[in-house]
Amino acid sequence: LPRIILVGRPNVGKSTLFNRLIRSNRAITHDRPGITRDRMDGVVRRKDMPVFGIVDTGGITLDAHAMVVEGPEGIRGFEQDILNQTEAALKDATAVAFVVDGRDGLLPLDEHLAAHVRRKGLPTLCVVNKVDGAEHEDERMAEFHALGFPLLAVSAEHGHNMNALVEDLTALLPEESSEEPPAPPTLRLAMLGRPNAGKSSLINALSGEDRMIVSDVAGTTRDSVDVRFTKNGKDYTFVDTAGVRRRTKITDNVEKYSVNSAIKSTTKADVTLLTLDAAEGVSQQDKRLMDMLNTRKTPFMILINKCDLAPRNALDQLRKNINELLSFCQHVPVLLVSALSGKDLHKILPLAQKIHEECSVRISTGKLNRAMEEVLTRHQPPVVKRSRAKFFYLTQAESQPPTFVFFVSDSERVPESYVRYLERALRKIFEISHAPMRLHLRSSH
Ligand code: GDP
Repeated sequence: LPRIILVGRPNVGKSTLFNRLIRSNRAITHDRPGITRDRMDGVVRRKDMPVFGIVDTGGITLDAHAMVVEGPEGIRGFEQDILNQTEAALKDATAVAFVVDGRDGLLPLDEHLAAHVRRKGLPTLCVVNKVDGAEHEDERMAEFHALGFPLLAVSAEHGHNMNALVEDLTALLPEESSEEPPAPPTLRLAMLGRPNAGKSSLINALSGEDRMIVSDVAGTTRDSVDVRFTKNGKDYTFVDTAGVRRRTKITDNVEKYSVNSAIKSTTKADVTLLTLDAAEGVSQQDKRLMDMLNTRKTPFMILINKCDLAPRNALDQLRKNINELLSFCQHVPVLLVSALSGKDLHKILPLAQKIHEECSVRISTGKLNRAMEEVLTRHQPPVVKRSRAKFFYLTQAESQPPTFVFFVSDSERVPESYVRYLERALRKIFEISHAPMRLHLRSSH
């Protein structure tokens, strides 16, 4: 919060101003110099105005001022305190409200204090207090111009000009950037897989020592824990992990493997990692998940973990199984890894980056149409019901995942097999090897 500090000699009305600004009677005000010796912190809130902090320092007395000019000798502890407070408050101040007494007029001490404030180089407003439309107001104000600060006449006691005061103080604050400071970009990853497949072990191994458990907010379920870390200068976050458990703590198996909640976490992620257990093979639920990820066009990869446990031929068989299951989404990469031995773990994060980059591509219409010509020439569309569909135009409708629309004479005449050919060809030309992709045909006669 930006902070504006009230500075001025004792009894000019700083505490009353402070109370007006924070709209309470918190500070003890008294007609005796130096009665508010402690620093008070408040917050100024007004409708449709930026919020800022306000600090009331004790009054700086004549003797304390002497220290500024003449050194610390002869200063009583009391005034020394006040001066220290003011100095400390000035250190983290955004701006200064320099308060003077309009009835007393400009006193030498005001001038000395003003010089002190001016040296700080902070935006400053001179608040001339105890002026409430009294006679000779302009004349009284005139002498304060000598301080070199913009002036505003107010009466804290009678509430005169308080709105103008808030406005003028707000004007001292730096331009507020309305947007949140942008969070450094992070690649969001979802880790799916049945209990005991080794998800936690993998997250542990990938995130290393300097991970941060991010959203471990009290009262949320343990499913919503995010793990954030940096690897090779890049930022990653595993979303919705069930907490990164220690390897020894394997009794903790309350984790539910619900396909629905798994799918939900994939919607928060850029890339999803589905972990299978090499020793267990592909379960029914793994199959369902693969199916859903595919139909939802989720960018994902498959990790076959615990490769250290399975013999070579078993792994080959498992890979074959998976390839069959993935026959309609051959772009999905499969890695054989081991959280225990560390095998091929270094490939996981760069691959996730690549999938995400491919997902984000934007291809110009010019390039797409040149590619379309090439692809059509290489293999004409087949004759269906005695004629071929005509292809007019190709455009990219969306990214995440890349989505392309072919405008054709009659989409009914384009068989599924030809659409698959088109997809393979586009993937090759634009080097989209691992991201999901959507192709649409639109008839335009
Ligand atoms: P999660 O339930 O999916 O998070 O699985 P955990 O990470 O808790 O791992 C379950 C068990 O498998 C633990 O006993 C791990 O030590 C073990 N484990 C995990 N990865 C591997 C691996 O690559 N090889 C072997 N042999 N064991 C592993």
